[in-house]
Order: sequence, then structure tokens, then C-alpha cells
Amino acid sequence: DLLAGVPTGVLIDGVWRDARGGARIGVEDPSTGKVLLEVADGDAADMVAALDAAAAAQASWAATSPRDRAEILRRAFDEVVRRADDFAWLISTEMGKPLAESAGEVRYAAEFLRWFSEEAPRISGSWRRSPEGTSRLLTMKAPVGPTLMITPWNFPLAMATRKVAPAVAAGCTMVLKPSELTPLTSLLFADLLQQAGLPAGVLNVVTTSRAGEATLPLLGDPRLRKLTFTGSTAVGRILLSAASEQVLRTSMELGGNAPLLVFDDADLDVAVQGALDAKMRNVGQACTAANRLLVHESVAEEFSRRLSAAMSGLVVGPGVEPGVQVGPLIDARAVDKAERLVDAARAEGGEVLTGGHAVPGDGHFFEPTVLRAPATAAFVQEEIFGPIAPIGTFAETDEAVALANSSSYGLASYVFSRDLSRVLDVVERLEFGMVGVNQGVISNAAAPFGGIKQSGLGREGGAEGIEEYLETKYVGLAP
Ligand code: ADP
Repeated sequence: DLLAGVPTGVLIDGVWRDARGGARIGVEDPSTGKVLLEVADGDAADMVAALDAAAAAQASWAATSPRDRAEILRRAFDEVVRRADDFAWLISTEMGKPLAESAGEVRYAAEFLRWFSEEAPRISGSWRRSPEGTSRLLTMKAPVGPTLMITPWNFPLAMATRKVAPAVAAGCTMVLKPSELTPLTSLLFADLLQQAGLPAGVLNVVTTSRAGEATLPLLGDPRLRKLTFTGSTAVGRILLSAASEQVLRTSMELGGNAPLLVFDDADLDVAVQGALDAKMRNVGQACTAANRLLVHESVAEEFSRRLSAAMSGLVVGPGVEPGVQVGPLIDARAVDKAERLVDAARAEGGEVLTGGHAVPGDGHFFEPTVLRAPATAAFVQEEIFGPIAPIGTFAETDEAVALANSSSYGLASYVFSRDLSRVLDVVERLEFGMVGVNQGVISNAAAPFGGIKQSGLGREGGAEGIEEYLETKYVGLAP
């Protein structure tokens, strides 16, 4: 029984223990609403104990060799890959996505461990002469220091490895606060890292049902040097302002409102598949999910017909059942929001082409939904985070770019066209941190993930990812 092997405590200084106050939180299976397991519900005192351990371990951890840190990550990569089925099952069970998608998340998540195991030995500095020729200008890198990591529920393993792996590579110690909705995957992963040789105190994990109250003391504690957060823009704003007290280094992966542009010269099979991928991965519960499908008016009819046919053919059900392609939403609130958005679409002149309803019965299921709505409708300014694909139309390229950019978010965007000069022109004008061309899924451990505008600060993955955990120190050397 896999659940029996998941640690349920808080991890502090290499030891699993109960929360100080003895409280516990039930973790639910979203496809049944039943409690799977109870885990320790930490409070501010547990968080401070975690930071005590992280701060105490920082100096010795920073002094380890890059190769030693790399090998811990490499062993963790091998072990996650070896246990891929266990992790996939756990993700599907606590979060709801179909097993095949969970397996995809495990591969993606594991790649951060491998990628940053390769980056650790490549941390470097520079040496140059000053332009006047009077001195040498040297730079070196040092770990930022103890980092608080707050992760969401939608990718329980990948959001943890995308933060933990570069921090390990750079030599930072950590306090990880996983989402209280999906802590089991992070707890199992933390245990695996300990077994891969991560020294006690380097990674501490505290789950809590009172995130705001429990993390606040850390943000005001001078031993904490960095905050990295993935979640909603609303919470990101609260955390950014709390982080200003100590002027913490911050990395913020916040909300998105991805436009998906389909031009008249696009290969429609490719565009429909891309839209399906960009919309339905994680039942639309991804910050990179296509939120606004903007299709040239000459192909909109055909595109809508094909996408509706594909969406209505998807098999909805519990993620662990064979053949299921669409799992439940995370909770009842998410279903209410999907219903509210469909109503809002209708009120703004939208027409439902397929779906549009919650699925009656147990669990938090919603039908894959396609609707036609004006491209300027107000409801598409909101992050949908569900299986609803609103299709709007445009006539000119400039209009498409303006519509795409008319959002306070700037995370992912997608372009479908076979005309290279059009693609280059549009890609350069899109105000987004990421652009997928003729594909609906672009996340890759070797690429810099992140957004502009209110979608966040900083990048995760790629060569940029490790820099978020390093400070640059400049040394001026007189001859
Ligand atoms: P989502 O909408 O994806 O659930 P949230 O931003 O609500 O996104 O949550 C993302 C993470 O932030 C979760 O781990 C959650 O517990 C945590 N969180 C929520 N509110 C706060 C807060 N005020 N302070 C610190 N962490 C918070």
C-alpha cells in the first residue's frame, strides 16, 4: 500500500515529527471527496523550527562541493524515475489528473533534478580588465541562502522539483510549504531526497492549513533570504508586500491568461491538437492553459467544429481509472467558478457549442466546454482554470496581437501559423514570457519558464533557473 509509505509529519532537521500543536489536516481524493490520509498541520512555531534548521545548515551546505550536490540530485533523478508509477498514482489520487498525465508530470518533474545536477558544476564567475586598464574586475557566485518555497496543488511534484533542484544545485537550504490540498507527493519526494543523501536541515517541509499566519514570521525573520512562490496573483501580491519588509530576493510564478492565436494559414489539425493540449492539460488547471482562443474569422467555423468534436469525445472520470482523459477539478469551488464563467459568457452574447455543465454525482467534474464569445468579452480577462475554451475571432494580424496583449497577465501564449515571417513578427510583438509556436505544451526543464506583467518575476528552469538562487559578488582587484 503506497499511502502507508508516505511520511505524514513535518520534516525538520532530517527528522519527521508531529506538528507542535498536534493538529492534522485530511487530504482528500477530489474524484470522491473522501479523505485519503491525514498529515501534520504545522503552525508558525513549526515554521520557525524549520527555519532554525535551514539557517543552521546553510554554511556547511554552501561549503559542499558542486559535484557532491550534483550527485545527490542525480541519485534523486534516478530514484524518481525508478518509482515513476508510485509518484504518478499518488499525484492522480490526491490531485485528480489522469494517470497518463501524472506520468508526464513525473517525467517533467524528474528532468529538473537531472538538469540542475548538470548545472551545479557549471556555476562560474568572470574576470576582465577595467575599461581604463587600471584594475581587474572579478565576479563570483554565492548561494542566496535560506529560502522559503510555497507551492500550489496543480503540479504537486513538478512545482517542488522546479524550486528544490536549483536550490540544491546552488547550495541554498530550504523550508518547503506544499499546498495543503496536495502535500503527499511533496512529502514522499522529501523523504526520497533524504535517502539520496541530502544532509539533515537542508530541506525542511511543513504543511499547514493556515498558510498566511504560519509563514508570516519567516518573512520577517532576518535569517530568511529568499521567497519563491507559485500560485495566484492575489496571494503573490500579499507575499510580495510582506517580502518588502526585509527586501527579500523573490521569484514569483503567478497567474496567466494565455491567448492562443490561429491564423488563416495554420494547419488546422495541428492547431486543434495544440488547442486541446493547451486547454485540457490538467483539466485547464495550469497557469499556462489557453484562456482565450483567438481564431481568424475565415477559419473560425471549421476550427470550432473540429475542436468541439474533439472536446466532446474526451472521456471524463476519476484519474486512476484506465482510459480516462479528463479528471475532476480540484474542489467544489472550482466547479462553481466554471459554472459562473459559462453564465457570464452567455450574458455577454456567448454561445455554448459543447459541454457547459457540471457532471452530477460524486467528485468535482465539469464537462469539456467550447463556446463562441466576442474576443473582447470581459469574462475572458479572468483566469479560467477549468475545461472551458472560449473562441473569439479576429480579422487582421494587428488586431490579433492587440487582443492577445490586452491582459494584465503575460505568462504563456501560443501561435499557430505556417508563415515564418508572420510567426517571427507576431512572436516579437507578444508581451508574454513564453510563446509556443505550432504546439500547445512548451514547458521544458531546459527552458526558462516565467512571465512578465502581473504573471510574475524571475524564471525557473534553463540556464536562468540556477541564477535565481545565486548572488553575484564583484571583487575589484588593484594590480
Ligand atoms: P491556487 O489558486 O493555485 O490554490 P493560491 O495562491 O491560493 O493558489 O495557493 C498557492 C499556495 O500559496 C498554496 O501553497 C497556498 O497554501 C499558499 N497560500 C495561500 N495564501 C497564502 C498566504 N496568505 N501566505 C502564504 N501562502 C499562502
